[in-house]
Amino acid sequence: MHKLIPNVAPGTQGFNDIAASAFDYSALDQANEAVRLRLNSTVVGVQETVNNRVVVDYVQEGSPLSVTGDHCVLACYNGAIPYLCPQLPEPQKEALNYGPKVPLVWTNVLLKNGHAWSKLGVSNVTCPDDPYVVLTVAPPTTTGGHQPPRSADDPMVVYMLGVPNVAVTGSETSRELCRTARHQVYATTFETYEREIRDQLQGVLGKHGFDHETDITAITVNRWPHGYAYEYMALDDPKWEEGQAPHEIGRAQFGRISIANSDSEAYAYLDAAVDAAWRAVQEQSRTKG
Ligand SMILES: Cc1cc2nc3c(=O)[nH]c(=O)nc-3n(C[C@H](O)[C@H](O)[C@H](O)COP(=O)(O)OP(=O)(O)OC[C@H]3O[C@@H](n4cnc5c(N)ncnc54)[C@H](O)[C@@H]3O)c2cc1C
Repeated sequence: MHKLIPNVAPGTQGFNDIAASAFDYSALDQANEAVRLRLNSTVVGVQETVNNRVVVDYVQEGSPLSVTGDHCVLACYNGAIPYLCPQLPEPQKEALNYGPKVPLVWTNVLLKNGHAWSKLGVSNVTCPDDPYVVLTVAPPTTTGGHQPPRSADDPMVVYMLGVPNVAVTGSETSRELCRTARHQVYATTFETYEREIRDQLQGVLGKHGFDHETDITAITVNRWPHGYAYEYMALDDPKWEEGQAPHEIGRAQFGRISIANSDSEAYAYLDAAVDAAWRAVQEQSRTKG
């Protein structure tokens, strides 16, 4: 990112000083830059025209706008693409709808000090039946300007990974459970999240002198209802022939429109999105005229 738009963090050298760098987010979308991000524009329609062009309709600050180009790479969620691009063949739209995003809740809790955690004597706790399945301390990374806690007297952050726990009858597929869990992430109030966090930390740390009333100084709850790309699960998903898996059918090039995202690789990590982007650009670079 820094190499694409250096003005976002002009004084930064790289990893060694990134943690304490000042960011100017307004530099992400300057009209005179070769690379622009965060355009504050929501695409609502994409259409290939009969004269080999692509029309993209979008909304910016409430105004409907349109742009026409020679090529288009759709890099949003697979589940949205059939609605944005109704022109796609029905089997492709069905394939794009197959895998839902996997919901997650990532919570960070700032503790006044690390005494109770240090008495616990571990860096990672697994709680499979609780709202947060993993509790862990941040890796002790030192980069320019940023230091991990030096002793238990320093404030510390506990990271809590929540996988929404929904009622299961045993007949639902994992894809259905992901969709139900997404609704739960949206519908849960912050008061409930806070109570669960306090209860769980009290349960884990209480016998080491922890008091959630006085020892918690801040909580951030990051809800990711559309979190990870869906990866097939052996319990529910068949083993498809090569080229026949939904993500492969779904990512088929459609003339001047290509699809690039981690969903199109059925793999939830950044390298999937980069691989998909490379494939999509290659597809379009072979589509001349
Ligand atoms: C909480 C969390 C932590 C993660 N941690 C890691 C990690 O440590 N390492 C790792 O490798 N991966 C991690 N990932 C996964 C990684 O973030 C994804 O694999 C990667 O960002 C996927 O890229 P993408 O391009 O498919 O989608 P995204 O990065 O989600 O990009 C899609 C973009 O499309 C935009 N968009 C959607 N619809 C429209 C529309 N209609 N009009 C305009 N724009 C639209 C969205 O705003 C978004 O900016 C994490 C994911 C989550 C949720």
